[in-house]
Amino acid sequence: MKHLEAFFRQKVPRAGKDLPGYYRSALVAGVSLLMAYFPLCFLLYGMRGDGWHWMPLLMLAAAAACRRSIGRVNARACVYMYAATNAIWSAWCVHAFGWSTGAQHLLLPLMVLIFFNIYEPPWLKAAWFAAQVGLRMALFRYSTVHVPTCALSNADSMFYQSLNSITISLILATICAHLSTDLQEAERQLRIDNQELHREAGTDPLTQLPNRRAMLDAIDAFQVGFPEEHFCIAIADIDFFKRVNDTYGHNCGDYTLRALADRFREAAGEAYSVCRWGGEEFCFFLPGMNLDAGGQEMQALCEAVARMPLSFGGHDFTINITIGVEENDFQSPVDAIIESADRKLYMGKNGGRNQVVI
Ligand code: GH3
Ligand code: MG
Ligand code: MG
Repeated sequence: MKHLEAFFRQKVPRAGKDLPGYYRSALVAGVSLLMAYFPLCFLLYGMRGDGWHWMPLLMLAAAAACRRSIGRVNARACVYMYAATNAIWSAWCVHAFGWSTGAQHLLLPLMVLIFFNIYEPPWLKAAWFAAQVGLRMALFRYSTVHVPTCALSNADSMFYQSLNSITISLILATICAHLSTDLQEAERQLRIDNQELHREAGTDPLTQLPNRRAMLDAIDAFQVGFPEEHFCIAIADIDFFKRVNDTYGHNCGDYTLRALADRFREAAGEAYSVCRWGGEEFCFFLPGMNLDAGGQEMQALCEAVARMPLSFGGHDFTINITIGVEENDFQSPVDAIIESADRKLYMGKNGGRNQVVI
C-alpha cells in the first residue's frame, strides 16, 4: 500500500523536457515503427477480406496517440500507452489467428523500454517483468483452448509470421541501437561536462588562475606522487592594493589583478604553479625547489613585478608585492607550511614591503 501510494505520488518528469534524449529517441523509434506496421496490417487484412481490418486501424490510432503524447504527457504515461498498444494487439492477434503469427513477441521490446526507464523503481520493473511473463503464458494457454476466429492457411501463417518477425526484430534492434549509441554519446557528453565543471570549480573567474582548492589538490597529489621531493610554498600579497582601488576605482583593481595573474602565469611556465589564494593574495607552489632556489625564483618575480608598467583609464602606475616563502620540512602538514609562509609575508610587510622573506 505504501509502495502504491508512493508510486502514484512519484513525480515523473514530462517526457519531452526531462526524459533522457536516448530514451526519448528509442521510444519515438519504437512507436514510429508500429505506425508503419499497422497500416501494412490494415492493407493485408483488408485484402483477405475477413472483416477484421478495422482492428489495425484502431491500433494505428492508439500508436499515433502514443507518438503524439511523447513530450506532452509524462514519461511514464507514454511508456504505458505504448505497452498497452502492444499488449492489446498481441492479445487480439492470438484471439483472431492463434499463436502461429508470432505477434505476441511484440511484448519483448517492452521489456527493454521498461528496464531502461530511469524513473521506474526496481520493484516496478520486477512487476512489469512478472506481468509480461504472465500475459505471455496466459495468451499461450488461451491459444491452446480457443479456436482462432480467423483460420489461417499455412501460407498465410508463414506470411504473417515473417511480417511479425521482421517488424519485431526491427523494433527491438532500433530501440537497442538508440539506447546503446545515444547512451554512449550521452555518457561522453556527461564526462566532458563533468570535466568542464571540475575545471570551473577549480578556477578563479577573475584571473582564470586555479583557485585555492585546485592548488591544495595539486599539492596533495604531488606529495602522494613524490613524497621524497623538496618543494616550496610562497604567499604573495600586493602592497597597498586598497590604494589602487581607492585612487583609480575597483575596475582598475580588477585589471591589476588580471595583469598580475598573467605575469605570474608567464613567469611560472612549467617550472612551478600559481593560484589566486584569495583577494589580492597569490600562492605559489614550487616543486623540486629548496628554500634557496624558491627564494631566488620569488625574488626575481618580485623585482619583475616592481618594473611592470600598468596602465588603466589613462593612468600609468606600478605596484609592488611582498612574498613569504617556506620549504617543505618533510614533517609538517601543508597547512603548517602555508601558515609559516604567511607569517614570513607579514614579517615582510612589517619590514617595509616590496621584498621576499625566506
Ligand atoms: P597591504 O600592503 O597591507 O597588503 O595593504 P593592502 O591595501 O593591500 O591590504 P588591505 O587588506 O587593506 O586591502 C586589500 C584590498 O584588496 C581590499 C579589497 O577591496 C581589495 N580586493 C580584494 N579582492 C579584490 C578584487 O577581486 N578586486 C578588487 N578590485 N579589489 C579587491
Ligand atoms: Mg591581503
Ligand atoms: Mg595587500
